[in-house]
Amino acid sequence: MKKIIIAIDGFSSTGKSTLAKQIANKLGYTYIDTGAMYRAITLYAIRHNYISENEFNEKALETDLKQINLEFKSNPLTQTAEIHLNHENVEDKIRNLQVSNYVSKVAANSKVRKKLVEQQQIMGQKKAVVMDGRDIGTVVFPDAELKIYMTASAEVRAQRRYQELLSKGDNVTYTDVLSNVTNRDYIDANRKDSPLIKAKDAIEIDNSNLTLEAQFQSILALVRKTTSSNT
Ligand code: C5P
Repeated sequence: MKKIIIAIDGFSSTGKSTLAKQIANKLGYTYIDTGAMYRAITLYAIRHNYISENEFNEKALETDLKQINLEFKSNPLTQTAEIHLNHENVEDKIRNLQVSNYVSKVAANSKVRKKLVEQQQIMGQKKAVVMDGRDIGTVVFPDAELKIYMTASAEVRAQRRYQELLSKGDNVTYTDVLSNVTNRDYIDANRKDSPLIKAKDAIEIDNSNLTLEAQFQSILALVRKTTSSNT
């Protein structure tokens, strides 16, 4: 079967990563969570006091970019790739509400995007990857063979993210999560550099009322159609 690049974009908490992992497992492809890369840089900015509620010292972060090393390493226990920031595994430090509240500001910075996009393009050079994010089908891999654009109502998405954070023991309210989701959507869709938009040739899936299994099966059918075609 022909190896392809599968690009999955969409608003926050649309279930992109769940779907991407399922598809990657099924096909034996590598799953790349580009959001984790933006989150890890945000964690770096928080730790260095470059970003807070009212301030973002973009120059300082830009100067440090050359010394920020990001790597995905497979965890043999969970069999998943985990993000390492300057050789520290930060996988369980990047999904909290503090990082979520600042990440879209950091991700709007063009120098940050340039660095990460270049790294993502290298990771996809040999194909056989499922990559999720906001600009994969538009900027990172505009020629990806299969592009999916996922949507769901903001309330459904906030409810999912809220349950996920609660199950990890985070002390959050639904209202805070909903406001984070809608704020991020707004910044991601309205920034100057690589705003979140549906690529012309992306297939849109609204999963507000779809079960995970139904969604998985419909995407798998699309993958099969794409990999078996000659183009
Ligand atoms: O996918 P996730 O919700 O973890 O992404 C966190 C944030 O990282 C997004 O809200 C967005 O601001 C940024 N992002 C991006 N481009 C990507 C992936 C994520 O701007 N390709």
